[in-house]
Amino acid sequence: MIDLQGIEPDSAAQLRQAFDHKKLAHSYLFVDPTAERAKTTAYWLACLFNCTGKNRPDGTCRNCQQILSGNHPDVLLISPEGRETLGIDQVRPLKAELAKSPVESTCRFFFIESAEKLTAPAANALLNLLEEPIAPVVTILLTTNSNQILPTVRSRTQLLTFGASSTDSKTSQLLASGLTPAELAEVGETTDLDQQIKYYYEEVLADDLKSVVTAYQLAALAPSHAIQKYVLIQLKLKAQAGLRQPAVQMANMKFLAGLVEVDKLRFSHVNFKQALEYLALQGKR
Ligand SMILES: [Zn+2]
Repeated sequence: MIDLQGIEPDSAAQLRQAFDHKKLAHSYLFVDPTAERAKTTAYWLACLFNCTGKNRPDGTCRNCQQILSGNHPDVLLISPEGRETLGIDQVRPLKAELAKSPVESTCRFFFIESAEKLTAPAANALLNLLEEPIAPVVTILLTTNSNQILPTVRSRTQLLTFGASSTDSKTSQLLASGLTPAELAEVGETTDLDQQIKYYYEEVLADDLKSVVTAYQLAALAPSHAIQKYVLIQLKLKAQAGLRQPAVQMANMKFLAGLVEVDKLRFSHVNFKQALEYLALQGKR
């Protein structure tokens, strides 16, 4: 059983964005020195596509369970299974499979593990699948080393490199602050959110009444528990950084104390707004 907690958040966030904008590529090359995160992220993508739950992918609905246990009819994994090479015989079933319609969903997912082990004939047999599939399919080649992938294959796939941004200080700071990789992926793109968080924080600190309005706007951008958690973590990091500046030290201490109170609650959308209002008005009490 694959555990969705093992995804790489940055790559998953990129894939979610492509999925949300209906811009998923036909074929990907996932390059991951550890191999495991890329494989888990491939399964995560198939779950995202097929999940019937509310927080996609939940990992718990029937489709997700089938995918994660390797039993979904439209999600196929080809792997060398201990062999030195992946030959044409291993690849052929994919082409046969493609001639049929998907069993349960509208798109199939083919995963090829250790793609660097593809023989040249097997890789060549895959080329038209990678380029222009005759049926809706997303093929993901998984490898630990992109240099061992034939250029003809590489040029037909969209490259996604895992671990490239694992030293990204924002990501590691968020993970260290208690956001899980799955939550981080759910949060996704944060440009607008980060801006509202910044306004809100600055207005609260300045005792500006606009912060009540901003609280409302910020809450509207944070409909899920994961995003709310992200907002609270970012506010906390800002306040902690603010403690180092003597002029605003007291205001930040007060803000942090308010955050501790707020952090104890698990929010619905409505009372997340109230919590932000409470924080905004704290200085007025
Ligand atoms: Zn699901």
